Amino acid sequence: MKLPKAESYKIKMVEAIRLSTMDERVTWIKKANYNLFNLKSDHVFIDLLTDSGTGAMSDKQWSEMMLGDESYAGASSYYKLKNAIQDITGFEYFLPTHQGRAAENVLFSTLIKKGDIIPGNSHFDTTKAHIEHRKSYAVDCTINEAFDTEVNHPFKGNIDIVKLEKVLTENPVEKIPLIIVTITCNSSGGQPVSMQNMKKVSKVAKKYGIPVYYDSARFAENAYFIKKREKGYSDKSIREIVKEMFSYADGMTMSSKKDAIVNMGGFLGLRQKEIFDRASVFNILYEGFNTYGGMSGRDMNALAQGLYEGTEFSYLETRINQVAFLGQMLKDKGIPVQFPFGGHAIFVDAKKFLPHLPKEEFVAQTLAVELYIEGGVRAVEIGSIMADRDPDSGLNRYPDLELMRLAIPRRTYTNDHMKYIAAAIINVFERRDKITKGLKIVKEAPILRHFTVELDRA
Ligand SMILES: *Cc1c(COP(=O)(O)O)cnc(C)c1O
Repeated sequence: MKLPKAESYKIKMVEAIRLSTMDERVTWIKKANYNLFNLKSDHVFIDLLTDSGTGAMSDKQWSEMMLGDESYAGASSYYKLKNAIQDITGFEYFLPTHQGRAAENVLFSTLIKKGDIIPGNSHFDTTKAHIEHRKSYAVDCTINEAFDTEVNHPFKGNIDIVKLEKVLTENPVEKIPLIIVTITCNSSGGQPVSMQNMKKVSKVAKKYGIPVYYDSARFAENAYFIKKREKGYSDKSIREIVKEMFSYADGMTMSSKKDAIVNMGGFLGLRQKEIFDRASVFNILYEGFNTYGGMSGRDMNALAQGLYEGTEFSYLETRINQVAFLGQMLKDKGIPVQFPFGGHAIFVDAKKFLPHLPKEEFVAQTLAVELYIEGGVRAVEIGSIMADRDPDSGLNRYPDLELMRLAIPRRTYTNDHMKYIAAAIINVFERRDKITKGLKIVKEAPILRHFTVELDRA
């Protein structure tokens, strides 16, 4: 008999979770103004809001926490992290930040001016917000295949080189301070970018003299997909692939809360001393002195260890197989999900799930509320609430994809939890015709409104 795949770790510490009743959840979600960010975590049974900072650290990471050097300047933890980043990514210079958006803030403060244009594949919400906050523009050049959840394409995170060149030829070069490639592309469904595409982007960028930065939160998952799907990489190790990926970039922003499996932290990786020197000023201003910048020594230690664990093939295989296990259960029942399955999450196509609801009633949010009521599972909307209003016209933006994301925390839930989640979604699917009303916005913030928005039944 062929031996089945099993997790590449065992569990040493557990945390109790409690299942509530449906009546309780109806009350709680109303009190939360139908915004899942407003729920108390005690009122959630399985939390798939995000895979950011929600993973389980290993025994080795916890051991590293005890070895943290909390010196303000020149801490050994800083050098441990610096060596790990250089070893894994190849970037010689780095700045520690408290999380990924802080790295974006420091980098963009260094490079972006008002009126600039920043092309890339679908920019992540905080990335886009940091761009638009500076009165500049994020231009989405993702391949069209990414916007059809039924098209099977191995690298739906790829940049369409024709779209990219169009942006580069139609605008003055000095208005384009950088190109951002998000690996994997969160907004299009945790979809990877191929090595070939990274090479091509680098070549085009060089032609125009524009630097390329990777938004790298899930770089290791991206490398796993390259190993599995791209010709010529099946025999390469994850770390070899990662090194090659970053060789085509001038720098990276990192949310360490994702593939580096820590609860908090981020960094900026850089190749050029000149950019490092300029960015250091903003790092000190916003984050902290350059040898800790928003992180304690123990957190830098755990992050250094996490970078090694997050780039182990056996760990990545366990993780990505678990996400696919959930995706396959849903797909087998005819539930519309982004395919191929993403690395960190399953994305349910809400427009196809609830085709009778008008887009003005926030379809993916409505679905996420129904799933919470059904089973106490907390998902998140990646759709028109998150898309914010157009900063120029003030009108709601309705993206091509209206998704409900089920993000799977790393090393946290078991496959029985996946079965429970699938059952809850299937139950909602079976009663979808009875969901005849969506939601309306009662109160919203001018930017990144999804975090604090207040809603009511439409
Ligand atoms: C999470 C994330 C960020 C922002 O990082 P934070 O640590 O949440 O600030 C940026 N880009 C991508 C692709 C992300 O997934």
